[in-house]
Amino acid sequence: MQNKNIFKSLTLPNGVELKNRIMMAPMTTCSGFYEGSVTNDLIEYYRARAGEIGTIIVECGFVDDKGLAFPGAIGLDSDDKIEGLAKIAHAIKEKGSKAIIQVYHGGRMVEPKLIGGQTPVGPSAIAAPRPNAPTPTELTADEVDDMLNKFGHAVRRAIQAGFDGVELHGANTYLIQQFYSPNSNQRKDKWGGNRDNRARFPLAVLELTHDMVKQYANKDFIVGYRFSPEELEVPGIRFDDSMYLLEKLAEKGLDYVHFSMGAILRPSIVDTQDPTPLINKYVAMRSATLAKIPVVGVGNVVNQSDVEAAFENGYDLVAVGRACIAYPDWLDRIKQGEKLELAINSDKREELNIPMPLWHFPLVESLIRDVNLTVKKFKPGNFQEKVNDESYEFLINVELGKDFIKDMQLVNAKEFNHEISDNFSVIKNKIIESNSPHVDAISGATTQCEAFKKAVTKAMAKSNKEAILAEGGDPNDKTYDIVVVGSGGAGLAAAIQAHDLGSNVVIVEKMSIIGGNTNKASAGMNAAETKFQKLKGIVDSKDLFYKETMIGGKNKNNPDLLRYFVEHAPDAIDWLDNNGIELSGITTTGGMSIDRTHRPESGTAVGGFLISGLVKNINKRGIEVMLDTSVTEILTENHKVIGVKAVDEDGTIQTIKAKAVIIATGGFSANKQMVEKYRPDLKGFVTTNHKGATGSGIMILEKLGAGTVDMSEIQIHPTVEQTTSYLISESIRGGGAILVSQAGKRFVNELDTRDKVSAEIIKLPEHYAYILFDQQIRVENKSVEEYVSHDLVIQGATISELAQKLSIDAQSLTKTVERYNQFVDKKQDQDFGRTTGMRHQICKSPFYAIKIAPGIHHTMGGVTINTQTQVLDTDKHVIQGVFAAGEVVGGVHGANRIGGNAVADIIIFGMQAGKKASDYIKN
Ligand code: ADP
Repeated sequence: MQNKNIFKSLTLPNGVELKNRIMMAPMTTCSGFYEGSVTNDLIEYYRARAGEIGTIIVECGFVDDKGLAFPGAIGLDSDDKIEGLAKIAHAIKEKGSKAIIQVYHGGRMVEPKLIGGQTPVGPSAIAAPRPNAPTPTELTADEVDDMLNKFGHAVRRAIQAGFDGVELHGANTYLIQQFYSPNSNQRKDKWGGNRDNRARFPLAVLELTHDMVKQYANKDFIVGYRFSPEELEVPGIRFDDSMYLLEKLAEKGLDYVHFSMGAILRPSIVDTQDPTPLINKYVAMRSATLAKIPVVGVGNVVNQSDVEAAFENGYDLVAVGRACIAYPDWLDRIKQGEKLELAINSDKREELNIPMPLWHFPLVESLIRDVNLTVKKFKPGNFQEKVNDESYEFLINVELGKDFIKDMQLVNAKEFNHEISDNFSVIKNKIIESNSPHVDAISGATTQCEAFKKAVTKAMAKSNKEAILAEGGDPNDKTYDIVVVGSGGAGLAAAIQAHDLGSNVVIVEKMSIIGGNTNKASAGMNAAETKFQKLKGIVDSKDLFYKETMIGGKNKNNPDLLRYFVEHAPDAIDWLDNNGIELSGITTTGGMSIDRTHRPESGTAVGGFLISGLVKNINKRGIEVMLDTSVTEILTENHKVIGVKAVDEDGTIQTIKAKAVIIATGGFSANKQMVEKYRPDLKGFVTTNHKGATGSGIMILEKLGAGTVDMSEIQIHPTVEQTTSYLISESIRGGGAILVSQAGKRFVNELDTRDKVSAEIIKLPEHYAYILFDQQIRVENKSVEEYVSHDLVIQGATISELAQKLSIDAQSLTKTVERYNQFVDKKQDQDFGRTTGMRHQICKSPFYAIKIAPGIHHTMGGVTINTQTQVLDTDKHVIQGVFAAGEVVGGVHGANRIGGNAVADIIIFGMQAGKKASDYIKN
């Protein structure tokens, strides 16, 4: 073989010279448009990495619109994509590197949600061995032929887009590999069965590729093949199977073969006793024909020594992955003899041209080193804290390093059972791993976990004070650009946005935990014209969303705020997604005619999911959160904001200096006096809200002269379990449940707006009702599990048995359910005109019911703002430097809030407040 110097050229079997032996590995960036066309970010990402490097292998493009294996994948599936792809090829070639693109189909690895809910295809109807994998539809013989043609056309498009070559993606358990694998291919025709039959598909793809090259390109066009050397499954591809296929491919002609492995010198994953790197076996086993074809290695290459080791072991070319993301000029640096570390500073995303979705891709995210963390300082040492849950007192030792949490011990562990110690170690590990006390609690042990976390926040605060004192500073002198008051969805979104725009932010929260009432949000987040709707084939319009919200709000909504809201909802969905919070499941709520309520794909409640995701983002950015600290006043000097006054749980008053304040303190549903003041008729109602929903932000802002609007518009939620104030999500009705009275009769369109449904329940002689559903609805709506675990659900094997348990007349209830089921079939509710959420009959045993009545749920009224989230005074003049977002604000929802619109409101306006406050301090 030729001289294996990194910087020396290499000539491929087709005669093409690569200027050096380094390639950029194909890596999924998830940064294409939802239908697979190329984004500008992607072009710039590749442009930035081309130049010194010999070859760039562009991430895989799917050959068919049922073939995309991850969101944001790019497509080679239609001619209209050629133009965008050409821009990538051009950007790479213009800078002097060769541009190759991978060609693939995901086959059974495709998730239905990525292809509009369709069933993926595969060689056989066998699901991949992973949880919740869909069972694909077996391709018919004709469809296999079609599929080959699709590969052919994809290659043609790559040629027409100006690429120098293609890499056939026969790895990563995608379709080509699926055909070769005895695990996924159990066909009985010529494409399946013995090894030769299974090899037929990859070989046919290669033949078609050669045909296309002959027709549309010239012999300079490069054709590579990527393979995963082994499969763990039984049966599955073994290394000698891979060698067998590679030899066959080599006979037909290839310019390179490319191992797909996480580490370049990895041994067998099947025969774990054998430490020989697979590349050594490859070299020993290959024929003279295969030996003429250069072999590419990949996996964990960061420094020159890694490349050299690869060459010594038999590779001819080396593909560099993550190091090229972290260092776009990787090869220049290596040339200059730099020793590199695989890490990316958190403030470098834009400079490094890393598209947002790639930034949040776990493999990349794990490289990000938070540069903010270094400014946080502790006095190193041990801090012992006493904290309580409802039953116990815990003595916890927290060990802090200069800028990190080192360790924690439960000092009085002996007093507790194993379960508590286990919980402690789970939380301890999470805290140490994320270097933050703000981590998810263990479900079922929330208060205990909150206590453990609190010990850490207390220790950190104490040690931070000591560190400042030791340096001769004043611990009470805290200065930031922006103070965000409240840590619900609005406050967290605002803080993240402001931080990302370069502001120094602190969040102040009066409760012991982060998340406010948002933690309790259940249904989801409404938005129209989103990428997730498009993927599911849901046709929607912003105008219709506007109209329905306006009707729901009885035309009382502030038109400007509502217009801003509907226009920016899809951006907010994307922003969350880009930050790792994917709301791709879609349902509906009362008052909406179209499925536009976005929620986690799994159907779990949105609130906890959202807060947990936002908190991860807060941690990652090192944004400071002060818990148990209540803001009491906004401080101004000469009409300019200078900070806030706050009081902590020990009653210590402190001043937090800042140039701007964002009030995101939520509503006032839990403030009985305030509710009664504006709505005497609601005296004595339970509330679904958390204790912190006291309206303090409204009072603070009123002191500054803020105006308010719609204060008497208070929403009662129709379905609240009264003994626990537990809210039974509207998504259960949206998912198909009905409401029945004690007489066993339906009495309302269950998905009418909340005010109307509540009014009908109050009108019943018993003033309560039952929400009734079946096993299918339970399966499809994960929040039901929460209700079950809180003992709120009554269950019966039949409708009659359920009726007996509820003391309802069994005949009457059976008749009601039967009648409703007929309406479902006819898609017409002749009794109450329900048109949405009639998904399927209520017929799958067991049957369930929860007793409910209305409770105070949301305060639509609040302070007045403009679309820039600036707080307005009673004369509608802007109060400079003061912004507000979320439930503390009035006007967005008018006289009645639609389910799913609160979460949309807090994210949309939270983001806007973060932006506008940052703009304000910069000016
Ligand atoms: P939104 O949905 O508008 O984000 P949430 O109710 O989810 O509102 O969150 C508001 C948060 O603000 C709650 O966690 C609440 O405890 C907190 N909060 C309310 N008043 C104050 C205050 N005066 N100081 C600090 N935090 C406050």
